[in-house]
Amino acid sequence: MSATSYVQSVYTQVQRRNADEPEFLAAVKEMFDSLIPYFEKHPEQIGEGLLERVVEPERLIHFRVAWVDDSGKVQVNRGFRVQFNSALGPYKGGLRLHPSVNASIIKFLGFEQVFKNALTTLPMGGGKGGSDFDPKGKSDGEVMRFCQAFMSELQRHIGADIDVPAGDIGVGGREIGYLYGYYKKIRDIHTQGVFTGKGLGYGGSLVRTQATGYGLVYFVERMLQDVQMELRNKTVVVSGSGNVAIYAIEKAQQLGAKVLACSDSEGYILDHNGINLDIVKELKEVKRGRIKEYLDHVPTASFHPGSMDIWSIPCDIALPCATQGELDGKSARLLIDNGCKVVAEGANMPTTLEATELFLKNHVFFGPGKAANAGGVATSGLEMSQNSLRLSWTFEEVDAKLKEIMSKIYDNAKRTAEAFDDPMNLVLGANIAGFEKVAMAMKAQGIL
Ligand code: NDP
Repeated sequence: MSATSYVQSVYTQVQRRNADEPEFLAAVKEMFDSLIPYFEKHPEQIGEGLLERVVEPERLIHFRVAWVDDSGKVQVNRGFRVQFNSALGPYKGGLRLHPSVNASIIKFLGFEQVFKNALTTLPMGGGKGGSDFDPKGKSDGEVMRFCQAFMSELQRHIGADIDVPAGDIGVGGREIGYLYGYYKKIRDIHTQGVFTGKGLGYGGSLVRTQATGYGLVYFVERMLQDVQMELRNKTVVVSGSGNVAIYAIEKAQQLGAKVLACSDSEGYILDHNGINLDIVKELKEVKRGRIKEYLDHVPTASFHPGSMDIWSIPCDIALPCATQGELDGKSARLLIDNGCKVVAEGANMPTTLEATELFLKNHVFFGPGKAANAGGVATSGLEMSQNSLRLSWTFEEVDAKLKEIMSKIYDNAKRTAEAFDDPMNLVLGANIAGFEKVAMAMKAQGIL
């Protein structure tokens, strides 16, 4: 059987089995398209059942989360945890709290996580979880009661050597504190390694908060070096204004770039003088406000409803850091026509398959999320190491390790792309490098 027919036949089966899961199918399609050249080079692996196994989660847990809101009314949400692949280590991946969460989104995120974790070179399998609970507009008490109800079920399935959750959209320091605290209470053990992204006072790691955004910009620096460019004086557009976006903006500014715009789900702000990050941090990290309130502090900036239009702003570098599917073909066309040279994904699959194709065809250097946003989970891995060793590294130590890991991820993806005669295609490079590592471990461990 040829590589193309093998990959296509497995994909057809995945489509049939997961027909109502568009996000999961898009993630699988992106991965599988890159793997045709891999199986062309390694036809001996076609009969090993590797693709068939790697797309099937080891376990998908779906549970009821019942809690009481401030008015005394019972609320019921759906909780999920996918334990996707443990070939390389305990399942590892964040929890997302957002009304859009369903099995398809959790499976797409879990699937991506497997290969992302492999690229970090740290011993972590892949998992992901969350709930359709919306923390927006909820009181601290409501968020706490929800987190406790969620953890009362999740605790059965996690552990420092089993499955280690962390944050994602809607899950920051507050939520992790409530989740971890409740785990500790009902299990009566203080196993810090069961969660990452913890507060610094109870086992968290320095740089974890900044890690995904900083790591993204370290990755972009390496991309720029390869096209004889540097960040200094470049114009950058960043979507989102959450954890990833804020620290991507911070690092880009530290390295001399000018960040023109950022957004939330209502729209984007444009500040030709460069975004004032202190104001954004105060609005988003402290007040949990809306991005348009930036104008109350900087009247010369402008607010534009409709977050996707952020890609119409001419810039050298675009960093989508909000959510999946936020940069489509039309937005890619605008970025290309306006001379954008580099795009790197801070979010998970923010760029649609059509947009990615357009970037690759039009020689916009493209950093896929699996590689470019792996700094968060890499630093989670460093947090687990510190918890096991029962010591804490300094900010400089963790930051240096993060930078080195991002550089190695870049080198691995680039080297693999070169080996497959498509040297600027980091999608191909990251997908093949991540897949090969997981697939070889699965093969060595027998048919499981
Ligand atoms: P946060 O919840 O901290 O922030 C998400 C941000 O995106 C918010 O500003 C939110 O605005 C905004 N947003 C949501 N939907 C849209 C939209 N349609 N258009 C524009 N903005 C939107 O999440 P994170 O920063 O942690 O995560 C962002 C992305 O990065 C996700 O894809 C996540 O999976 C990925 N990621 C996160 C990692 C981490 O360490 N946190 C690690 C690797 C990847 P609003 O408040 O209006 O909803």
